[in-house]
Amino acid sequence: MNILIIGAGGAGSVVVKKCAMNANIFTQIHLASKTLPKCEKIQQECQDHFGVNIGISLLDADNIADTVALINRIKPDLLINMALPYQDLNIMEACLATKTNYMDTANYEPLDVAKFEYHWQWDYQERFKAAGITAILGCGFDPGQTNIYCAYAQKNLFDEIHEIDIIDCNAGDHGQAFATNFNLEINLREVTQCGKYWEEGQWIETQPLEFRKIIDYPEVGKRASYLLYHEELESLVKHIKGLKRIRFWMTFGEEYIKHMEVLENVGMTRIDPVMHNGVEIVPIQFLKTILPEPSSLSEEYTGKTSIGCVITGIKDGQKKTKIIYNVCDHAKTHAEVQAQAVSYTTGVPPVTAAILMARGQWGQEPGVWNVEQLDPDPFMEEIARQGLPWHVRDLKSGLGELCERRKDAA
Ligand code: NDP
Repeated sequence: MNILIIGAGGAGSVVVKKCAMNANIFTQIHLASKTLPKCEKIQQECQDHFGVNIGISLLDADNIADTVALINRIKPDLLINMALPYQDLNIMEACLATKTNYMDTANYEPLDVAKFEYHWQWDYQERFKAAGITAILGCGFDPGQTNIYCAYAQKNLFDEIHEIDIIDCNAGDHGQAFATNFNLEINLREVTQCGKYWEEGQWIETQPLEFRKIIDYPEVGKRASYLLYHEELESLVKHIKGLKRIRFWMTFGEEYIKHMEVLENVGMTRIDPVMHNGVEIVPIQFLKTILPEPSSLSEEYTGKTSIGCVITGIKDGQKKTKIIYNVCDHAKTHAEVQAQAVSYTTGVPPVTAAILMARGQWGQEPGVWNVEQLDPDPFMEEIARQGLPWHVRDLKSGLGELCERRKDAA
């Protein structure tokens, strides 16, 4: 397979290196991004660690004509978009113009409004079908692997699924006072907006980080977790039959929350331009410039991520709760691909999906698909081989009702 990856950040570097580790399948690998030295560094590492030569190019993917020209030069079978959600629609346009298959890990978000919804990308369904090409959306870990855990549970573990809680814990320590594990802008826009969950056919909005729960995560233990809105909820509500409730939880340390609140209070998370010394700057973009890049954190990182789905439903007439999860060790992923586990868990799923496409097991039907619409079985088999083994365990019960408000807990 001839593959083009756009975005040379933390997660994009993992995609490139995992492709290099599967060089029998990915016979041509090309990386394009906004800053060429970042591509050169990854190119050198692929040569040094895996003996694989990759092509690189400078590209601003917001420019559709430039992306079309690059695609026409490289002629990839598949383009994996590992840039930012703002680029999704422009890159999909370039894929349509060149009849190229598309994949990403995060749904479109307009630059000037912190709001992510699938409808902008779902609207491409008919045009992708007519062009005879496939788009696979949200194929990172969450969204991505977590959706596939739900699809696997629906197909193999339950007759009916009633409740899903997606639980995401990073119990690692990068040694920095404050840094984000993936793109800072996207991370802070996600965490500072209102939370939302779905119950009995309705979306229920909460204040940002309003609800908190102590969740017992496999291999890392009990951690304070906060209810957030996350994009996979929107597609899973459509695609998991019989669902009555779905929520998303993520752990944050007190230090992280303290920094985030201060940054928010002083206006550093603003996404609108302000004048500074006669120059227009966007505070959150300036903050990104002065804080560590996600790709620079891996060397000192210790600890593990533990992410999974707690699912309650009916099997053979009996109520059951199961957890499907993966645990990933920061130091091990650094040793393998010089990346921390958040970049690693994001980068391995799209490579797994690309392998299935190369084998003709995924993405044969033209159109725009969320990953839970595709057969989970070959994906679950392959991803365990690619570095993200998964486990299923019985639990006595699900996570229960919302009870503790963060302000009460403080
Ligand atoms: P980074 O900020 O580390 O990387 C983003 C990369 O995209 C950078 O190299 C950046 O270049 C490049 N880029 C930005 N704009 C453009 C552009 N216009 N044209 C070309 N390249 C561009 O972020 P991450 O690697 O952490 O995240 C990458 C993506 O993965 C994001 O969309 C994020 O939301 C998603 N993600 C998904 C997860 C999941 O589980 N589904 C989890 C974590 C992340 P430069 O640095 O030069 O500006």
